[in-house]
Amino acid sequence: MSHFPLFVDLQSRHCLVIGAGPIALRKIRALLKSGTSLSVVATRACAEVQALHQRGDLHLQYASFDPKTFDFNGVYLVVAATDDHPLNKSIGEHCKQQGIHCNVASGSEAGDVVLPSIIDRSPMMIALHSGGRSPTMTRYLKRQLEAFIPRNTAKLVSWAESWRTKVKAAIDRPVVRQRFWDRLLSGIAAEHVLADRATAADSIISDRLAQAEAGQHHGEVFLVGAGPGDPELLTLKALRLIQQADVVLYDRLVSEPILSLLPVSCERIYVGKRQADHALPQDDINQTLVDLAKQGRNVLRLKGGDPFIFGRGGEEIELLAENNVAFQVVPGITAASGCASYSGIPLTHRDYSQSVRFVTGHLRSNEVNLPWPELAQEGQTLVFYMGLTGLSAICQSLIDNGREQETPAAVIERGTTPEQRVIVGNLESLPGLIESQQVKAPTLLIIGEVVALHGTLSWYKSNV
Ligand code: SAH
Repeated sequence: MSHFPLFVDLQSRHCLVIGAGPIALRKIRALLKSGTSLSVVATRACAEVQALHQRGDLHLQYASFDPKTFDFNGVYLVVAATDDHPLNKSIGEHCKQQGIHCNVASGSEAGDVVLPSIIDRSPMMIALHSGGRSPTMTRYLKRQLEAFIPRNTAKLVSWAESWRTKVKAAIDRPVVRQRFWDRLLSGIAAEHVLADRATAADSIISDRLAQAEAGQHHGEVFLVGAGPGDPELLTLKALRLIQQADVVLYDRLVSEPILSLLPVSCERIYVGKRQADHALPQDDINQTLVDLAKQGRNVLRLKGGDPFIFGRGGEEIELLAENNVAFQVVPGITAASGCASYSGIPLTHRDYSQSVRFVTGHLRSNEVNLPWPELAQEGQTLVFYMGLTGLSAICQSLIDNGREQETPAAVIERGTTPEQRVIVGNLESLPGLIESQQVKAPTLLIIGEVVALHGTLSWYKSNV
């Protein structure tokens, strides 16, 4: 370890920055957030530093700096950030001799202090530094962490603090207490706090404490939409919940790259569904969710697309609600949005389509029972989920009910994944085109004038 990370209270200390150009400005901005009293010495200053001086946020002195003659009395930290590297270095060396903390910009080893990259979720602070080896890597990691750590973590910190004494009184064993907190902070109570619903969170923690005192623990269920396939289309919340899952129930639509984000310790239960071959009947899935939660597990129910769009999410949570199991539903990008964007087919368009309908093409006793006269009307886009088997019947019914047979129509196969294919035709030609290709599930059928825009608006490489 080349540098030991420390967090210093600078509120009653005095800091000195030498230089007032762009590099110094970054450091000045960071230091001002700490509440320190700040002096800046420079031969010239950028407009922002001048403005900060005029506002009284810092004291700016125009002078050429000589470490040998400067009076460092009362200075706690020096930052040498001029564009003159030998000068920066000599300031660093001088401070080292005098025992004054000094940070030297531009990676010189002359200083003893590093000003790290900061993720500020005050009072929670995360500092990153690569020992000067790779500022690019530091920036990259910072971006990743910024995305992953909720903006309002501070609320979670204060909420946890407000319950600390009660939890300590109720659970004496530190190991048990730590597990209690781990579960709470990765569970629904924490989600409520982050969404400003502290009362709901308070009621959950009270229940959990009562259960803990009675020697029980109840789990929770997160019903999470995993999007259409591309892991980049997960929501931040879905990603966070995936990365902290304890046990997961997932089906065939959840892509392998998404499953690879699960922790290695997470138990995986496949409950895949194929039209005729249900790996686990829906009732059993519903019951498994309840059973796992009652065993005290925190369960992630991961579903393709959005759980509430042809996802039977409603049925799954109905049983949870009946059994008093706490749950939360997290939306995902539905196949229609994902496939449309990745194949250059806008679902609505001022000129061609004023509405869009998501329709199930699932066959019931070999027929697609739908309000065809309504669906055949012009000016709307139709998106058929589960429409591959019934494709011919769907196209024919629309033609029979008055939609032009030249109406453009497309099948998007494995949309948003590297294997995506888009097969474009019209109501009359599409069934034949599909027959001549070996099309694999999942596929989405989009019908309407907007499909014709695919040729010009498509940006994503498709395998066709
Ligand atoms: N809840 C899911 C839909 C589940 S129904 C959602 O919101 O997307 C299953 C149907 O979704 C499939 O038969 C197919 O029509 C469609 N689908 C899901 N993912 C898809 C993908 N990546 N490409 C094409 N169609 C997809």
